[in-house]
Amino acid sequence: MVTPVDIMVITPHPDDAEFGAAGTVASWTRAGKQVIYVVCTNGDKGSSNPALTPEQLVELRQKEQLAAASILGVREVIFMGYPDQSLEDTPDFRKDIVRLVRNYRPKTVVTADPYRRYVWHRDHRITGQVVLDAVYPFARNRLAYPDLLAEGLEPHKVDELFFWAAEESNYRSDITDTVDLKLAALRCHASQLGELEIPDLEKRLRERCRTMAEGEDFELAEAFHREIIAY
Ligand SMILES: [Zn+2]
Repeated sequence: MVTPVDIMVITPHPDDAEFGAAGTVASWTRAGKQVIYVVCTNGDKGSSNPALTPEQLVELRQKEQLAAASILGVREVIFMGYPDQSLEDTPDFRKDIVRLVRNYRPKTVVTADPYRRYVWHRDHRITGQVVLDAVYPFARNRLAYPDLLAEGLEPHKVDELFFWAAEESNYRSDITDTVDLKLAALRCHASQLGELEIPDLEKRLRERCRTMAEGEDFELAEAFHREIIAY
């Protein structure tokens, strides 16, 4: 059994959590909250550079993810090691997530929104769906996994879920004071930023955070769909 965390961030690939939630993660860790990252895939298909083998890419992306997490004050990063583009909504993947949730016992779980329509990476859609199901009802249901119970992994009730990239966002997190950490963490993912070929990426990201904060009394935000599990 490990020391429980306040927040578990479950990301499909190394870099998604930085795009979706890094400013919020930084504000949580600044406030003294314990945050853990779970990285589902190893990102071994995330490059068009013919000089890089998939194995080299995995190693590079692990280093990039660890550097980004360190900037954000994340306590620990767990690499599940599924191959990129391989995630499926299977009992095994769901159980892997349940095991982590029961072991680390977070109050809040943060992940990709599974219900974003049309052009949305399959790994993102699957991760969001499997995490949602793992949190409710599987992690909290005593009889769901007798073998996990026998290992000492008691049921655990997560209080709330945050989904990034939601079309129906209902929660905006103030990242005015942590946007620089978000951008610094994103810069760690050099292998990915090069692939995007977006000029002025940081300026565009700031603009997007400004748009997300429209109507709020702060300047920059990350937007989420927040689902409080009331029962
Ligand atoms: Zn991704």
